Amino acid sequence: MSKSLILLFVLTLTTLSSCGLPFGADNKKKSQAVRVNNTSNAVFSSYVASFEQVAKAETGDPQFSVGDVPVNFGDTEDPDYQGVCFTYQNGQKEIIIRETWWNAASDTYRESLLFHELGHCRLGRDHDDSKILTNGQNYKSSMMSSVIVSPGEYDKFKMGYLKELFTQSKVQLMQLLSTN
Ligand SMILES: [Zn+2]
Repeated sequence: MSKSLILLFVLTLTTLSSCGLPFGADNKKKSQAVRVNNTSNAVFSSYVASFEQVAKAETGDPQFSVGDVPVNFGDTEDPDYQGVCFTYQNGQKEIIIRETWWNAASDTYRESLLFHELGHCRLGRDHDDSKILTNGQNYKSSMMSSVIVSPGEYDKFKMGYLKELFTQSKVQLMQLLSTN
C-alpha cells in the first residue's frame, strides 16, 4: 500500500461516524449513576416507529416494541462516539445521540446510527466488524459495525442490512452486494 493510500485511509476513518463501544454491547454507567430521562425526545419518534415496523416484519412478532429505551440528545462521554447505548446498574437502558452530529446528518445517516444503537439497546447485539469482500470491494457485513454503515451503502443495500440486523443472516446482504 502506498503512503498516500494509507493517509487517505486514515483520513476517511476519522471522518466516519463511530458508535465506538469497544468492549461489548453497551457502555456501563458508573454504579451511582441513575437515568435522568424516562421519555424520548420527539425528534426520534419517527425513527423508532420505523424500527418497530421493520422489526415486526423481520421477526414475525406483531407485538414487537422498543419499550423502555428512551432516546435523547446528550453527552456520549467519548469524543469519537456519535451515539451510545448506556446500561445502568438497575438494568435500565438509554440511547444518547450527539446533537451536533444529528443536526448535520442526512435522514439516512440518522437512521443508520439510531438503528445501530437500538441494535445494542433493544436487540442485545454486540459489534460485528466482519467484512464482506465482493467484486474487489470490502463492505461492512452488519449494521452493528462499530463504524456505522454510511448513508450511501445503507441506501443501496438497505434490505440486506435490515435483514441482518434483525435475523443475523447475511445471505440477502451478500446477494445484494455481489450483484451490485
Ligand atoms: Zn455500537
